[in-house]
Amino acid sequence: MTTTEKSPRSPAFIILGAPGSGKGTQGERLQEDLELPYYATGDILRAAVREGTEIGLQAKEYMDRGDLVPDEVSIGVIVERLSNPEASRGFILDGFPRTLPQAEALDAKLEEISRRLAAVILIDVPDEEIVRRLGGRRVCAEADHVYHVDFNPPEQEGICDIDGSELVIRDDDSSETVRNRLATYHEKTAPLIDFYEGQALLDRVDGARSPDEVAESIRALVSTLSLEEEN
Ligand SMILES: [Zn+2]
Repeated sequence: MTTTEKSPRSPAFIILGAPGSGKGTQGERLQEDLELPYYATGDILRAAVREGTEIGLQAKEYMDRGDLVPDEVSIGVIVERLSNPEASRGFILDGFPRTLPQAEALDAKLEEISRRLAAVILIDVPDEEIVRRLGGRRVCAEADHVYHVDFNPPEQEGICDIDGSELVIRDDDSSETVRNRLATYHEKTAPLIDFYEGQALLDRVDGARSPDEVAESIRALVSTLSLEEEN
């Protein structure tokens, strides 16, 4: 591949991971470590809508109708953000790309603005562990105080420590829903994994460990990349 000579490798990262993989937490830690802007797609879309940019208004039309924002619009919103001065040194993307066409479009746009990804970090957590993490969550009926049967149990089983109301399982966290979400995630992400593996950009991190251990692995990984220094 000759892309190495085409454009410098700035500290630009994509974080991939299933719901419950801890990718949000890790993205925020990486952001603090590298002092880069961190873009979670949903937040960017909402920000573009709020700021009323042209592409943001296009996205708003779909969102107001309750439709999915089509690829070309969400790509436009992301690229607009990546073209901002704040992202000139690098960035961390979370939640985008989600599909192969989005990944290909992102590649083309990065090329246009003379950028290259440094790495795509996949936080790998076995499905069983995800089901245990999400399936063990309980919230109180009164005020949504969050507990976990293994990691953060209440003093008295099934009862909120704070207000004494009953603890319940959210629909989103039922094991059937979690398994459905995981199936969708794998189906959509598998082609992305192949795509970035083919570009030698994919780095897998074992996400079944504690957040500190995972963060340490990511730090070690990033330190091995030869990143462009800040001007
Ligand atoms: Zn409560």
